Amino acid sequence: MSTTTAQVAPVADVTSAATHCPYCALQCAMVLNPADPAATGPVSVQPRQFPTNAGGLCQKGWTSSELLRTPDRITTPLLRGADGQLHPASWDQALDTIVVRLARLQAESGPETVAVFGGGGLTNEKAYTLGKFARTVLRTPNIDYNGRFCMSSAAAATNRALGLDRGLPFPLTDLAGADAVMLLGSNLAETMPPSVQHLAPVRARGGLVVMDPRRSRTAALTEDRQGMHLQPVPGTDLAVLLALTHIVIAENLIDSVYLDERTSGFETVRRSVAAWWPERAETVCGVPAAQLRRVARQLAAASPAGGGRGAYLLTGRGVEQSSQGTATVTATINLALVLGLPGRIGSGYGAITGQGNGQGGREHGQKADQLPGYRSITDPAARAHVAAVWGVAPETIPGPGRPAVELLSSLGRPATADQPAGPRALFVHGANVLVSAPNSGRVAGALDRLDLLVVCDFVPSETASRADVVLPVTQWAEEEGTMTSLEGRVIRRRQALPAPGQARSELWILAELGRRLGAQVAFATEPADVFDELARASAGGVADYTGLSHARLDDDEAASGPGFYWPVPAADHPGTPRPFQDRFATPDGRARMVAVNHHAPVDDVRPGAPIYLVTGRVLQHYQSGAQTRRVADLNRIVPEPVVELHPLLASRLGIENGAEVRLRSARGEAVARARWSDDIRPDTVFMPFHFAGTGSVNLLTSDATDPISGMPEFKVCAVDLSPVTDGGQP
Ligand code: SF4
Repeated sequence: MSTTTAQVAPVADVTSAATHCPYCALQCAMVLNPADPAATGPVSVQPRQFPTNAGGLCQKGWTSSELLRTPDRITTPLLRGADGQLHPASWDQALDTIVVRLARLQAESGPETVAVFGGGGLTNEKAYTLGKFARTVLRTPNIDYNGRFCMSSAAAATNRALGLDRGLPFPLTDLAGADAVMLLGSNLAETMPPSVQHLAPVRARGGLVVMDPRRSRTAALTEDRQGMHLQPVPGTDLAVLLALTHIVIAENLIDSVYLDERTSGFETVRRSVAAWWPERAETVCGVPAAQLRRVARQLAAASPAGGGRGAYLLTGRGVEQSSQGTATVTATINLALVLGLPGRIGSGYGAITGQGNGQGGREHGQKADQLPGYRSITDPAARAHVAAVWGVAPETIPGPGRPAVELLSSLGRPATADQPAGPRALFVHGANVLVSAPNSGRVAGALDRLDLLVVCDFVPSETASRADVVLPVTQWAEEEGTMTSLEGRVIRRRQALPAPGQARSELWILAELGRRLGAQVAFATEPADVFDELARASAGGVADYTGLSHARLDDDEAASGPGFYWPVPAADHPGTPRPFQDRFATPDGRARMVAVNHHAPVDDVRPGAPIYLVTGRVLQHYQSGAQTRRVADLNRIVPEPVVELHPLLASRLGIENGAEVRLRSARGEAVARARWSDDIRPDTVFMPFHFAGTGSVNLLTSDATDPISGMPEFKVCAVDLSPVTDGGQP
């Protein structure tokens, strides 16, 4: 055990910092000023010009400084005592406790008994270090992250079809020039309000198409002849896409030259959609055949082959968070390909990344099957390259681990004849699995089975509150680093404030733990140094950052440069805003069309379940709500979960507007206040996923997963509803 006292990190002397919002992947640009006399929090927040937000911020961005000094901010390590409570401890006590308990567990059960769960909000530097720590210090394959719940279906489908997964393979501002933009399962007006301005010219041309079972704020943007809203039955998005592709082919609206020159597999897809004529699709998805035809023709007219300015198809979690999410994104890409959209300026397919660093977080090694640079962990050449950067032998790097849902359900599980024992210890960084994971009652049971739970966080989230050891970490305004936005643009996060109390960066924590665990591998703690190492580790990979450094990013920004979109393979390389112009990133340069087919949602097999539940976001909250529920201005507007239901359904079930409702699924039950709305289908109810306790919607959701991506079926589950008559107790 170490006897070295943990050193306090130096405090930065900062007057103002040009940085980006801590929340979503739009990464709106802002200036933080701790010396501003008008500041209502520890820093003032002012928006600044940046292409994606064009000077705009949403309510979350404007109020982001409030969280920096939230009254329950964790500012000292915490250890669970014999009384079952968490108590303040020194860094030495906390780290040495972890080291002693890890050593015992690994001696008893092997290295794989430790698991790591990361987050899509961590900087690139932290995500990289976390993956390196897991594989070189803990020597465990068991690392995955909450991006599995976010981008995994889009990533799997785009990697397979286009050879490269970069959420938007074009600048967001390109959307404005198109004649049509189809948003599939994305509520941009609620989740990324400043981005909607890029759609204004498209709406003016009547070209916005939104697919959502609810008339969301984004769907409402199609009104007044600005576009069309498709309202399918939950879980049938894939049927809509198969029908649209059928129509484009049947009416000979395809781009034949493009298909010949740039794709493979068209014949297989053509045959696979032959059975999805619009009238048949209507019986499955509920979207009228005439509307399906109108949408297909509008997209075709907007495409280059149809003589239009261009068209974009964009997917979001609404269609991706499904047990057929990879197939649904594949069908979207197939539709884009028959229309000749990807790889052309002014047209394309993209996935809208959700979490702040959901893009970078999946590129640098915290995903179960990946090494830095978006390399496959099973590729011998990739393993050898990364091993050389880390200074270890390639064979010491573990193989692929379990994807998130499987990892969480395996925690603390004893070995059986069919499967090995699950991990007995878990590190959680930047995630709140107790609220954000599907079938969360089961997750709670799994956490209870652990011998050791270590959580790094800056607030006592629901998951942190269950930990044996809590390590206090810095927030966005207190650290340097980089993030990679939804466009694949690498941007700088800058420090404006010193960290409060004993809070430390995860870079320091992981280096210190590595040292105390006797690691032979060096861990840098300065973000610029970590980035340089990350860039070397990414060299030659799909997400190649070789030509970037903090200094180059700073110089470019000072010169009002456009920033850098990866890949950036050399120091004089300008970056790659549109990577597919000449060829796709597949071995033969052609996009691969893959036939897929629709299956009913998993819960459809449950007899007697009459109503579908869909989950989603509200503007004022972010992810599990652990941050935004602590911001008074946001919590005042949306203080509790609601269940949105159509008045026809409410009247059938005897549920008054504003009354408490109990929802039951095959997994569990939850309670929320009813909000009548005619914006939703009468067979569907909606709940936001930002809340904990009895109103946590993930008590209900299904942990069935997509067989390729591991994405859970968040977006459709069968529920029963009834008025609460017993005070809402479970
Ligand atoms: Fe922050 Fe996203 Fe809101 Fe922009 S849209 S201010 S990045 S939460």
